[in-house]
Amino acid sequence: MKKKWKILLSASGLAVAAGILLSIHALTAVPAVKAVNAAPTSSAESAAPASSAENTPPAVRQDQPPAAPPENVPTEAQNPKQKIAYLTFDDGPSGMTPQLLRTLADCKVKATFFVVGLQAEAFPDALKQIAQQGHTIGVHSWTHKYPYIYKNTQNFLQDFNQLKDYIYHQTGIMPNICRFPGGTNNTVFRHYNSGPIMSDIVGLVHGMGFEYYDWNVSSGEASSVPPSKDLIVKRVVSQCKNKNTAVILFHDTENKGYVAAVPEIVAQLRAMGFDFETLSPSNPPKFRAAGVQFKPAAPRGFAPAPAVLAPPAKENQP
Ligand code: ZN
Repeated sequence: MKKKWKILLSASGLAVAAGILLSIHALTAVPAVKAVNAAPTSSAESAAPASSAENTPPAVRQDQPPAAPPENVPTEAQNPKQKIAYLTFDDGPSGMTPQLLRTLADCKVKATFFVVGLQAEAFPDALKQIAQQGHTIGVHSWTHKYPYIYKNTQNFLQDFNQLKDYIYHQTGIMPNICRFPGGTNNTVFRHYNSGPIMSDIVGLVHGMGFEYYDWNVSSGEASSVPPSKDLIVKRVVSQCKNKNTAVILFHDTENKGYVAAVPEIVAQLRAMGFDFETLSPSNPPKFRAAGVQFKPAAPRGFAPAPAVLAPPAKENQP
């Protein structure tokens, strides 16, 4: 083959290869994480995931498509017969816990409580009642202070283990589930940590034998202006439509209105074919497929490294 043709063929081959690489990069590139301007918060859950757009769970976000389910996990459409709802209550116990427990008993429903250590110290009897009545207790946070727990993994583990041990000593039951304050995809942590701490702590809790759970239905009852009972019912029921797995976020706080909504929510969901269970690590793939386990948020400004093009063949170098 003449040298001229050889050069032309080699050059066109390189162009095709470069085009393929650029196409692959375009397909796999992830948009840079948008800047966060919201003021940080360190108090109740309501301030982070419920009212801040950046912490709205993926199921209701309008600016991002829902994460694709992992491979080999049946989607809800493929498994339409089983409809399970999980009532979850964060940030308690509180002065309202006894009333909430009576309501749940009247409804014959077991729930999951992701408790806060400082609240459990203030209401130790309520913590024990939750366990004695057969509900599930999970770790939320001892302090629920974002600046502390998300500053580094040492702080997170100290806070986490303090609550884990306290729950065990108070109830005799070692927890094995947790929910991160603000949810796994919270971006508030970026005010206090520039690294991939959410991914790191997911790995840490998995290593400790815990499973984490977020939510795919939010009652929104903990907003600064508490919604009416009817609005809470409407929100929850409407979000549960077209779902077979509904993990519903409430807050066990002094906000009194939501407890009255629980019986109506339970009745309407039962009429829709839902059974009620408590969370456990027994079947995490199902929860991932349902969007209940959020993908850990990435550090601010995170972007994948650019694709590296193969060096040109020797004969094409000048
Ligand atoms: Zn919380």
